[in-house]
Amino acid sequence: MPKVMKKVKSITVNADNCNGCRACEVICSLFHANPRYSSNNPARSRIRIVREPLRDIYLPVYAGEYTAAECTGRETYIIDGKKYDECDFCRASCPSRDRFKEPDSGLPLKCDMCEDEPGLEKPKCVEWCLNDALIYEEREEEVEEQEASPPEIEIGVEALIDKHGLQKLLDAVARMAKP
Ligand code: SF4
Ligand code: SF4
Repeated sequence: MPKVMKKVKSITVNADNCNGCRACEVICSLFHANPRYSSNNPARSRIRIVREPLRDIYLPVYAGEYTAAECTGRETYIIDGKKYDECDFCRASCPSRDRFKEPDSGLPLKCDMCEDEPGLEKPKCVEWCLNDALIYEEREEEVEEQEASPPEIEIGVEALIDKHGLQKLLDAVARMAKP
């Protein structure tokens, strides 16, 4: 496969610096509202804070890939004496929980690094985190050329088919398309 140069954007999470303020959730949901900045609902955010003040746990987690099936195993982590629940570190939008799903439609959410035109200097959650818990970095990497990942709309349609079945979805589209 031919090699191409690719811009890789990454965010390093320094959970030790997170105080659970949830400003990142607020600005992410605002930035992705339609129209932009028209509503604020952290349940729509593509970053979520695992937040348990009584156990001193504040863990920022980014929304990753959609998966139609939940995994068969669970993992528990103990770090610095703090025990994290199963699934806390998982980034998937999966059937076994509500995290990283649009609260109204149930469609999967995924962090898109605040892609915009023109591009932002840094993602919104990084800009709004005043505690340096989220550290943004860009670098060029040589990678094998791959097919582009499916756009968000295709992932949403796939999730709807998984939830309702293809025929019901086609029937609904046909009904909506009628003048
Ligand atoms: S804005 Fe920063 S400190 Fe506040 S919850 Fe998000 S990651 Fe944590
Ligand atoms: S990078 Fe942008 S899309 Fe991703 S969680 Fe942060 S604000 Fe949301």
